[in-house]
Amino acid sequence: MSNVQRQLFVFDFDWSLADQDTDRYIFEVNAPDLRRYMKTAKFETQWTDLIAESLRKIHARGITREQIEKTLIDMPFHPAMVRGVSKLKAEGKTTFFCLSNANTVFIDTILKSKGLENLFDQITTNPAEWDESGLLKLRRRVDPNGPQHQCKVGCSPNMCKGEELEAFLAQHGPFDRIVYTGDGSNDFCPILRLRRQDVVCCRSYRGLQTRIAEEGEKEGLEAEVRYWAGAWEAEEIYNTLSI
Ligand SMILES: [Mg+2]
Ligand SMILES: [Zn+2]
Repeated sequence: MSNVQRQLFVFDFDWSLADQDTDRYIFEVNAPDLRRYMKTAKFETQWTDLIAESLRKIHARGITREQIEKTLIDMPFHPAMVRGVSKLKAEGKTTFFCLSNANTVFIDTILKSKGLENLFDQITTNPAEWDESGLLKLRRRVDPNGPQHQCKVGCSPNMCKGEELEAFLAQHGPFDRIVYTGDGSNDFCPILRLRRQDVVCCRSYRGLQTRIAEEGEKEGLEAEVRYWAGAWEAEEIYNTLSI
């Protein structure tokens, strides 16, 4: 028996809920030369702006909306992840919040293809929309021409995941337990907002694990950290967090 009555599951999307990285995979499949270019261009151009620019380039080459949607639907997404989150959702006591540096179109398209379009209570990410010509227009969540976020632990200018998590909790909290699933260095900021009773489900061998090892103690990380590599192992962890 658990005394957890209200639980929040927070998911990063790329390499966390999904088993690949949308921003990179789209170009690996449709324009590998642009994927190569991104490896160096990312040091000069903010990442979301670079993806927006690259989407304009593939549109100019004639890559269609249908091709991009098919790529998203075909992108690796582990059945064990679908199973794990669907079980918790069906139990009805867990709130689901997606916090991602991808964009609304990539995430909505993939979730719908997996039958998960009703999983999340809220999705916070960069806004995107198709125009009539089939161009996917992408913008930063935090407008570069307006007030900027105040993050001090390294979030990209498009969004501070820690500030977004705080805003979500202020509106929908409190929760007895928060479970944060993430893999990347930009998931380090939000997990610093977690408490002792919360859990980080950290994907092994990626940026978040490195930052936890190097900075976790110094930055006062309080939450328990559990590691997983394949989604079937994340599912095993989720099964222990059923309420
Ligand atoms: Mg990620
Ligand atoms: Zn931040």
